[in-house]
Amino acid sequence: MKNLVKILDSVDILKMDRRTFMKGVGLLGASTFLSTYSTQIVSALEFAETKIIWLHGAESTGCSESLLNASNPDVAQALNKLNVNLAYHETLLAQQGIWVDGKLANTADLNSEILLEDLIKQGNYILVVEGSIPMGPAGSGRYLVIGEKPFKDTVAEAAKNATAVVAVGACACWGGITNANSDIVNDTDYRGIAFAKTDPKKGLFTELGIDKPVINIPGCPPHPDWILLTLGALILGKVTLNDLPSILDEYKRPMLFFPPDHVVHDNCPRRGYYDKGLFDEGAGGPNCLWKMGCKAPYAHGDCAMRKWNGSVSVCTQAGPCIACVEPGFPDSSRPLYVEAEDKGVLLGADVGTIAKVTVGVAAVAAGVHAVRRMKGE
Ligand code: SF4
Ligand code: SF4
Repeated sequence: MKNLVKILDSVDILKMDRRTFMKGVGLLGASTFLSTYSTQIVSALEFAETKIIWLHGAESTGCSESLLNASNPDVAQALNKLNVNLAYHETLLAQQGIWVDGKLANTADLNSEILLEDLIKQGNYILVVEGSIPMGPAGSGRYLVIGEKPFKDTVAEAAKNATAVVAVGACACWGGITNANSDIVNDTDYRGIAFAKTDPKKGLFTELGIDKPVINIPGCPPHPDWILLTLGALILGKVTLNDLPSILDEYKRPMLFFPPDHVVHDNCPRRGYYDKGLFDEGAGGPNCLWKMGCKAPYAHGDCAMRKWNGSVSVCTQAGPCIACVEPGFPDSSRPLYVEAEDKGVLLGADVGTIAKVTVGVAAVAAGVHAVRRMKGE
């Protein structure tokens, strides 16, 4: 561990080369990050505290719950060490929105809506958005209205004075579950901040003409480390806005956590069974879950190295991976528990299309590999 800290001390987080990434990422959690950068944290404390405004759109609050499950350090410890003022977070705020006769009442100490207005006016904050944003019906945004204001307008106002915008979770990144194909999706018209499914032209910011740097932390929900490390790196200046083009992939995901040339399948604890062609077809067995619809060969995430729940487990230890970190999730992974090869194509597209719409050749290699595996080549 000492060596790891030494290595990490000499490089900037999120700018690691591939070798360092492979060495470090299995062990690097938010706790290591905070201890590695303790010197910078001390000097960061000399500056005015960084504010975070965290907005909730259409979602289940699962991403916030995932963050609250961070245990080493927990969220309170991490925010304290980073000297962060989580100034506005609707799930955690003591304040409530209070209207009397259609007007906001009391002060920011009691009224969350006044607090939000004040914070936006003051500026100098990182805006985190959890959940998707409905444009429907007919571009009005009135399928999600808070205090007479469509949520899309609140996001647009908050984005104007933000130094950076972080979209947390599949819904904020691409529309997620709320934007899954259905009979009503055209009417509800849910958007992510920078994308709708995989289309950047339909992302909320493009639609509303907002030009702000966006970092996508996908997942359903995302790993707490992905959120804390990204916010930590931004707050400490380990990553500046100028760095974003070189550290994010074309879907605005930090390549450190979502490497273009690495998939969950590479480090799955069941991988030995896959290589031997031993597959489970029902719940509870020890073998590979490919035939039960595991999508990990297409999932560009460090999940199997980082592991979840205090680094004790990863999804494929419990059931098939649903590739929740991929652009356009969940449609990109549907049908979820059906072997991808049943469709004769990879995740609803032929190999050529996948090469265009996913993050590079690794997905194709993984897919071809999987198809060969199934054919016994
Ligand atoms: S297909 Fe899924 S269960 Fe099987 S080895 Fe790969 S990641 Fe593990
Ligand atoms: S292992 Fe698969 S389902 Fe689990 S978090 Fe990673 S990408 Fe999502």
